[in-house]
Amino acid sequence: QIPVSDALSRVKPSATIAVTQKARDLKAQGIDIIGLGAGEPDFDTPDHIKDAAMEAIRSGKTKYTPVDGIPELKQAIVDKFKCDNALSYTPAQVNVSPGGKPVIYNAFAATLNAGDEVVIPTPYWVSYPEMVALCGATPVFAEASVEQGFKLKPDALEAALSERTRWVVLNSPSNPTGAAYSRSDLEALADVLRRYPDVLILTDDMYEHLVYDDFEFVTIAQVAPDLYDRTLTMNGVSKAYAMTGWRIGYAAGPEALIKAMGKVMSQTTSNPCSISQWAAVAALNGSHDFLAPRNAKFKARRDVVMNAIGTSPGLKAPIPEGAFYVFADCAGLIGKTSGDGKVLETDLDVCDALIAEARIAVVPGTAFGAAPGFRISYATSDDLVKDASERLVAFCRACT
Ligand code: PLP
Repeated sequence: QIPVSDALSRVKPSATIAVTQKARDLKAQGIDIIGLGAGEPDFDTPDHIKDAAMEAIRSGKTKYTPVDGIPELKQAIVDKFKCDNALSYTPAQVNVSPGGKPVIYNAFAATLNAGDEVVIPTPYWVSYPEMVALCGATPVFAEASVEQGFKLKPDALEAALSERTRWVVLNSPSNPTGAAYSRSDLEALADVLRRYPDVLILTDDMYEHLVYDDFEFVTIAQVAPDLYDRTLTMNGVSKAYAMTGWRIGYAAGPEALIKAMGKVMSQTTSNPCSISQWAAVAALNGSHDFLAPRNAKFKARRDVVMNAIGTSPGLKAPIPEGAFYVFADCAGLIGKTSGDGKVLETDLDVCDALIAEARIAVVPGTAFGAAPGFRISYATSDDLVKDASERLVAFCRACT
């Protein structure tokens, strides 16, 4: 056995990847399982983006690039922030990394020391606390309960802040809950953050374009311009453009922070894939017409899942504003016995029974720091979402 580093020993493997693999393994054995664990759209990357990548290959754009992004992509990102978010940045304030995940890791690696704290609202995206731990710092959790629509409230934020807080993480729309902050939600959080001038703010806006029912997406630097100087506004092409495999994420923020993140990259990954960067230029600058029909599909699937939850005894969930997840609180199932006689003591029990009896794979809330519950990803075909929803209702109705 190879002894791992102290830093790595503090880190848990990704539960969402584990569930996806489990569903894949069962399917390979011929078992009819519906995987609702994956965090990626079932749609393909639009053709005009693929064409730009092919053109990049043909024209020899296949060499090292500037470490934190080609000027053309940085300019496209500057234009995107101006147009979508009314935020002004210079290219020197922009970082491009090999995915949204590395953007966040580079920011943490560039700034965190042992003893530093990072405030993370629960339920959280699985990677935030693990990245903080990998950097030797300490995650501090601030609860956003189902009663609050899984949105962090100012008093919970205030209670989690200390003189050791280095970052506060916001994620809207959220993975795993789909909850998104309105302008007034963000104004209330900004009122607290204003009183802690040394705290940096990371806003993960990865699901910005995936919002439904005319929800108006806003981001904190736009709502509270006085926090602009200490906010890292992060985003990427993975989800909205169905480009998870291309590995391009980006962020804009204070120039000194961007420079420090570039330094981390210069000695680790170097530049993101040159071809993917040109594809991302086409994604950001090109037509967004494909988004509306895709979002209409996502919204319809969300509604199917929400109807199922509404008719499933023991489950409750607020209507998510965006992303492609529903997070169901399953406190009402705990203590019950499943149709096949399994006593459900935790959300892990519920998720195991859902696989064994309903043949659907979802990710337990424990993985997101929010038990008991589970995350349903509806980024799969309409038919499978419908079928899975019926199985979920039948499972819950059979519990006594
Ligand atoms: N942030 C959130 C909230 C996510 O859900 C994900 C992907 O699951 C990421 C960041 C990372 O995206 P990427 O695949 O570009 O690394």
